Amino acid sequence: MSDRLPMISVEEALQIIKDNIPAPTARDCSLEDAIGRYLAEDVLAPEPSPRYTNSAMDGYGVRWEDVCDAAPNSPAVLTIVGESQAGVPFTGSVRQGVAIRISTGAMLATGCDTVVRVEDTEERSDIVSILAVKKKGQDVRFLGEEFQKGDLLLHKRTKISAPQAALLTSVGITRMRVYTPCRVAVLVTGSELVTAGESIAAHQIRDSNMIMLQTAIQETGGALADCLRISDDEQATQEAIGGTEADIILCTGGVSVGKHDHVKDAAEANGFCPLFWRIRQKPGKPLYFARKGATLLFGLPGNPVSAFMCFAHYVRPVITALNGLPFGWPTVSGEVAADITNQEKRTNMIRVQLTWRPHGGYCITHAEKQGSHMLTSLSEADGYIILGPGQALKTGERSDVYRYDFRREPV
Ligand code: AMP
Ligand code: MG
Repeated sequence: MSDRLPMISVEEALQIIKDNIPAPTARDCSLEDAIGRYLAEDVLAPEPSPRYTNSAMDGYGVRWEDVCDAAPNSPAVLTIVGESQAGVPFTGSVRQGVAIRISTGAMLATGCDTVVRVEDTEERSDIVSILAVKKKGQDVRFLGEEFQKGDLLLHKRTKISAPQAALLTSVGITRMRVYTPCRVAVLVTGSELVTAGESIAAHQIRDSNMIMLQTAIQETGGALADCLRISDDEQATQEAIGGTEADIILCTGGVSVGKHDHVKDAAEANGFCPLFWRIRQKPGKPLYFARKGATLLFGLPGNPVSAFMCFAHYVRPVITALNGLPFGWPTVSGEVAADITNQEKRTNMIRVQLTWRPHGGYCITHAEKQGSHMLTSLSEADGYIILGPGQALKTGERSDVYRYDFRREPV
């Protein structure tokens, strides 16, 4: 069935994918389970911060009227009547002419409105001399000065990383609603493949696609489902696809026109409807895309570079969209260091390096060896640029670079 599908452009392929992405789903979960996920709701502050007025310094809690004229040659002399420690507040009140010792984070006592840090004082047998003071309320953290109850703390679609986890915990939030990450299965096909670490015969290849895609899926924010390696066998391929439970199935290899390429037939025998096969691009021309209900299947080419490029440009934005984010890529603009021309008749995704120049922004250089079997063209690159057939960029011209850093959100 898919053999009759026309070869399409990059833009057409992206549109077909966008048209077939299911709506993202969300779930309530604990903070621990929400780490690395994206909020599916705005989070409002259930309480103010700080929760109580407290000291920003180790020092003395005082009344402004008592100390406002203090200077090194005419200190204000106060009697120390107690202490407010972090976790052990002073329960009395600070009246005229007295002070309390206070530590950072400790609650201010009634009557005291100003903190004088230790460095600006001298203490001798429960008497403190205040030598310098700047203003009323100095070194005090006031209740609600950061945010009030009901203020917006975190926007929907914010990723829960270390700072957000700390913020939520600080206001007592332990459960939240996040987008459910999509489950992505990886089915690697190829009778020539062995696992790294196994003995390898002269005619065999180490399977590098499995670890590459597993890593890329997790970095993008997807969850790994079944991960299998199968030989170039029609029955085995059909069973592997049929037995997989995932939102997205990624197959690699076996998607071209070879006698031993079974992915397309196996997908269609399982009820997948082919949506496109082959894109006018390099690398990654034989990309296959099919759908069965809400399950999407990508038949990525076997060549690791082609598989990776197809993941980066077509699969990654789907995983991102299912995390509630825009369908897109993290890009950055830079200036090309030397002329780059696409000599091909197809759109070319050219792998490039980015170098930061302190006052000149990013400079784009072009990796020389671009073969689709050459993994160094990826490992030494920071991203790729896209040039249409015959399109050229002159030295100094600007271009967008699609970054490989999958942990970055699309812009
Ligand atoms: P195919 O798309 O199955 O025709 O494979 C194209 C090329 O990619 C062949 O040279 C394969 O040996 C190679 N290849 C396929 N799968 C993998 C893999 N998982 N890891 C490394 N190379 C692969
Ligand atoms: Mg193969």
